[in-house]
Amino acid sequence: MSVVVHSIRFKCPPDIGTILMLDAQRYEVIGIEPYIRADGSASILIVWQAWCAETGHPFTLKTGLVAKGINRRCKKHAKPGQAATRAGAMRMRKYLRKQSGRRHV
Ligand SMILES: [Zn+2]
Repeated sequence: MSVVVHSIRFKCPPDIGTILMLDAQRYEVIGIEPYIRADGSASILIVWQAWCAETGHPFTLKTGLVAKGINRRCKKHAKPGQAATRAGAMRMRKYLRKQSGRRHV
C-alpha cells in the first residue's frame, strides 16, 4: 500500500511509490538520487513522476527532501505566476462559493 503525503517534508528519503497529493495533482516517487551540495555536503534528491498540468503528459522532476512547492508543469509548458490550470482556478472559485453557501444552511 502506498503512503500518501500532502507536502514535501521528509526527514528521511521516502519509499519508491510514495504518493504526493497537492490540490488535484498527483506525484509519485520513482527514485532517490544522492546529491552533493555546492558546499560539498551529501544530500538526497527525490525523483518524482508527475503529470503536466497543461496537457497531462508525464514528466519527471526532482526536489530535495524538503521543498515548499513543486512544479505543476513540465519545463516546456512552464508559465510562472499563472494558476496551474484554468480548470483548477475555476474549481477553486466553485469550491469557495460552495463553502460560503454552506455557512447559511
Ligand atoms: Zn507539459
